[in-house]
Amino acid sequence: MSLLTADSSQLLIGGELRPGGGGTFETVNPATEEVLGQAPDADSADLDAAIGAARTAFDDTDWSRDHAFRAHCLRQLRTALQADAEALREITIAEVGAPLMLTRGPQLEGPVDDLEYAAGLAESYAWETDLGTASPMGIKSSRVLRREAIGVVGAITPWNFPHQINFAKLGPALAAGNTVVLKPAPDTPWCATSVGAIIAEHTDIPPGVVNIITSSAHEIGSALTSDPRVDMISFTGSTATGRAVMTNAAATLKKTFLELGGKSAFVILDDADIAAAAGFAAFSVCVHAGQGCALTTRLLVPRAAYEQAIEAAAATMGGIRPGDPTKPGTICGPLISSAQRARVEHYLSLARAEGGRIVVGGGRPAGLDRGFFIEPTLIADLDNGATAAREEIFGPVLVVIPHDGDDDAIRIANDSPYGLSGSVWGTDPARIDHVTSRIRTGTLGVNGGIWYSADAPFGGYKQSGNGREMGVAGFEEYLETKLIATAG
Ligand code: ADP
Repeated sequence: MSLLTADSSQLLIGGELRPGGGGTFETVNPATEEVLGQAPDADSADLDAAIGAARTAFDDTDWSRDHAFRAHCLRQLRTALQADAEALREITIAEVGAPLMLTRGPQLEGPVDDLEYAAGLAESYAWETDLGTASPMGIKSSRVLRREAIGVVGAITPWNFPHQINFAKLGPALAAGNTVVLKPAPDTPWCATSVGAIIAEHTDIPPGVVNIITSSAHEIGSALTSDPRVDMISFTGSTATGRAVMTNAAATLKKTFLELGGKSAFVILDDADIAAAAGFAAFSVCVHAGQGCALTTRLLVPRAAYEQAIEAAAATMGGIRPGDPTKPGTICGPLISSAQRARVEHYLSLARAEGGRIVVGGGRPAGLDRGFFIEPTLIADLDNGATAAREEIFGPVLVVIPHDGDDDAIRIANDSPYGLSGSVWGTDPARIDHVTSRIRTGTLGVNGGIWYSADAPFGGYKQSGNGREMGVAGFEEYLETKLIATAG
C-alpha cells in the first residue's frame, strides 16, 4: 500500500502513532500546487509529551549503553526504509519537488544507505580510552576517558533535502546513544511522518527513543530549543533562525550544532579550462532549483576571461529547462513554495535595481502556469558588495564576478559572512594549494571533486554554523566526555 494516503500521516510520540492535538495542516506538491493531503499539527501538549518520552527513554533504559542493540536497530531501520523505498520516493518527489534523479542519491537512497555508517560507528567506536596512571598532587590515579551520549537531542530540519538532513541527524545521534525529538519543516511533513510509521511498525527502536513532531507553527521548534529537558539542539536551516536557536538555547546552556546558510564561491584560476569550469558551475547551481546551502552561487573568474565565462555559463543555464520532477531527465524542479519563489524574485529585482545584467533567465518559465518554477538565471556586472552576491537566494541563480588573480579571488571568496563550501578550478597544484589553504570554508571541491559522503564531515566556518555533520566528527558532536580517575 502506498504511504501516500492522507490518513496515514501521524506523529510519533513515546512509540505511538497518533494525531496532532492541533488538528491537521496541508502539505502541497510544489510542482503542481495541488494539496497532497493532511499532516498532523502538533500542539504544545504533543511537544511536551514527546520531550517527556525522549527524556524517560534516555534516563530509564539501557539504550545509551547498549551499543550492539543500537547498531541492530539502525540496520533494521535501514532495511525497512529500503523495503519501502518506492513509496518514500513517491512522497519525496511529490512533497519536496525533488527531481527523481536526486532520489537515487542525496534526496533518499544515499542517506538511507548511510545509516550503515552510523550503525558501524555504534559498534566500532572506541568508547573508552585508557589514559594510564599519573600522580597529580601526589595521588597515584589510573585514568579512563569515556565517551557517552549527551541525552535528549532536539533535531530541527529544513525542507530542501529532508531525508538527507533528517538521517544525518538521526543516524549519528542514535548511534551515539541519544534519544531524539525530530521537528521537521512545515513544508515537508510527510517525509518525516512516513519514517515515523516505519520506525513504529518495522523496528525494535524502543518507545520514546525517536519522536517525530510535525507542526505548521515554527513556535514548536522554538519551544523545543528552550525546554530544560533537552540537552542538545541539532539544527539545519537559515542563519537568521540559527541565531534565534542559539539565543533560545543559551538560557539552559544547551549544546547547539548549527548548519546554516552559505554563499559559496566557485573560483576559476586563469590556467583552468574556463568554459568547462564555468559550465560546471552553471550546471551545479541549477540542481534542485538551487535549493542547497552548499551550492557555489558566486562564480569568480579571471577578468580577461569574464565574457568567455559568461558565455559558457549562459549556454549551460539557457539549456536547462525547469520542469516536472517525476521525469527522469529533470535536474531543476520547482521551488518549494510560492513564498520561496517570491523571495527569489525579490532578489532578482534587487539585482536589476543594483545594476545587474540578467544574461539568461530572470523570471518564471513560459508554458508552466502551475508550480513554483523559476528560470535558471545568470547575473553579470554586479560586484561582490551587491545584495545578490552577499545574501543566500536559495534559487537557481548564479552571480558572475571578475577577479584580478589568485589572491584577489581569495579576497573576494572570503569577503562574505558565510563559509560553508566552495570550488577551485585550475591546473597548477601549487596554485590550487595556495588558494584552498586560504579560503575560509568548511568544504571545498577541486576541479569537480565531490566532498559529500557519509564519512566526510560537513559544516561551516563563520556564520555558516558551528560544528560538523557526518563523519566521525559529526558523530562526536553527539557525545559527552567523562574522565574517571581511580586512586591506586
Ligand atoms: P527556511 O527559511 O529555509 O524555511 P528556517 O531556518 O526558517 O529555514 O527553518 C528551518 C527549520 O527551523 C524549520 O523546521 C522551521 O520550522 C524551524 N524554525 C523556524 N523558526 C524557528 C525558531 N525560532 N526556533 C526553532 N526552530 C525554528
